Amino acid sequence: MTYYDQHMHTHFSPDSSETFENYLEQTDGVIVTTEHLDFNDPYNDGTDTVLDYDAYIEEIEGLNLQYGGRIRRGIEVGYTRESFPQIQSYLEGKSFDVVLLSVHQNGEYDYLMPVVDTKNPKDVMNEYYDLCLEAVRNVDQANVFAHFDYGIRRLGVSVEELKEFEPQLTELLKEIVRKKMALELNTRSMYEYGNVDLYRYVIQLYLQLGGTRFSLGSDAHSTDKYRYHFEDAADLLRENGVISVVQYRNQEEELARLD
Ligand SMILES: [Zn+2]
Ligand SMILES: [Zn+2]
Repeated sequence: MTYYDQHMHTHFSPDSSETFENYLEQTDGVIVTTEHLDFNDPYNDGTDTVLDYDAYIEEIEGLNLQYGGRIRRGIEVGYTRESFPQIQSYLEGKSFDVVLLSVHQNGEYDYLMPVVDTKNPKDVMNEYYDLCLEAVRNVDQANVFAHFDYGIRRLGVSVEELKEFEPQLTELLKEIVRKKMALELNTRSMYEYGNVDLYRYVIQLYLQLGGTRFSLGSDAHSTDKYRYHFEDAADLLRENGVISVVQYRNQEEELARLD
């Protein structure tokens, strides 16, 4: 199987209006969507962004009959300390092919909101990486740790500045390895938000710590970002001696070669 885009959103996420059919037109192969679950979502006036699981499964099952079973089911779980019990009870008894784990907010504001610009950048980074470690430790059902740079996108962090957080990043990456999760290369982070150098550094650190599992995701909210810069990200992995990425079906790993 060729490697596919393992992070995409449709109209089942509030910040997207894309259809499954439009993504299916981009490929003859498999697609997966990873829809938002963000309790107390600052982007939604503090209300809960909850994937309508029954409607999601119903639409996918209908389309899978028409399109030869090409759609897999995914979710992007946005962790906060306060919502952890709600996350646990939401996931209970539901079935996904892949579960992404993200930290988007601190319970008060989303890390992409302008208020972040008024904070001390080092405090933001400390808090964000503490929350990331807590998320990976606490959530046992996740397969992929998404966009490790989400919380620092507004800060314009250099590699040197990120290296100051190497002890925290090391703890986080070790926990990702211990949990047998994959590290996501978020290609919009890398090539739209300009964080490819941060990714190059973290990929090498993760490999040094024994990490082997990588996932490629564009974080597309519409088809114009489908497989965004995937060849560049695959090249970066190959430069680091990585020859395959991990994809999930019923949360079981499948390896897809990068050729
Ligand atoms: Zn996200
Ligand atoms: Zn996303």
